[in-house]
Amino acid sequence: MLIEEVTENVVELVEKLNFAEKVERSLELIDKAYKEFGDHLVVANSLGKDSSVIWHLAKQVSPKIRGFIVTTRFKPAETKKFMSEEVARYPELRVFSNDQEIPEKLYETDPDRCCEILKVTPVRNAVREMNVKCWVTGLRSTEGRTRTDYKEIEELDKGLLKLNPILIWYEREVWEYLALNQVLVNPLYGKGYRSLGCSPCTKIAQGEDERAGRWIGTSKCGGECGIHTKPLLDYQI
Ligand code: SF4
Repeated sequence: MLIEEVTENVVELVEKLNFAEKVERSLELIDKAYKEFGDHLVVANSLGKDSSVIWHLAKQVSPKIRGFIVTTRFKPAETKKFMSEEVARYPELRVFSNDQEIPEKLYETDPDRCCEILKVTPVRNAVREMNVKCWVTGLRSTEGRTRTDYKEIEELDKGLLKLNPILIWYEREVWEYLALNQVLVNPLYGKGYRSLGCSPCTKIAQGEDERAGRWIGTSKCGGECGIHTKPLLDYQI
């Protein structure tokens, strides 16, 4: 089983492998997982640069691999447009959202709750409705302070594996891959954003931490929406 095979130290791999070796390793991880899980392997596509890499890698392993996008009422117009274009190009991408009513400006008063309702709930629905046994994400360990402790393959929920095939890639290598393969990306990067999210919670930011522009001015600054930290199968709201 893949989870027992992949035991290397992530921190060492980030430094040790060159760009081409990382690409090869990522493809191998997806390929092995696809052989193990088949149609139960599904890619999470956030429409950010890392997801664009993951989606492009997965399509090389098999054009049949399915994916899901989680969107919210607060996504920027550019992201919504890019989403429509991606779904038109890849009908095997399903879109999930939650139209439940929420208090006005919940993203200011309780961003954790807002993310739980608008982002985590649709991911749980996607996992259930698409019968996912292994989901594939674009998580990277060098993205920011909250992302240093992940593994390339992990089982946070019993019976649901999470594969992070580009965990050891640098930001530079993501852009190298996208440029070399002429992959279309969300146009917001052209405006200076480095990490993309909902409009009220995402600013253009400089500095070492790629996610520093997320939830600026709140306790969640540079943090997580919860899809990588909260249970997706056994949970209580
Ligand atoms: S990123 Fe902001 S607006 Fe989007 S779900 Fe989270 S708190 Fe709400």
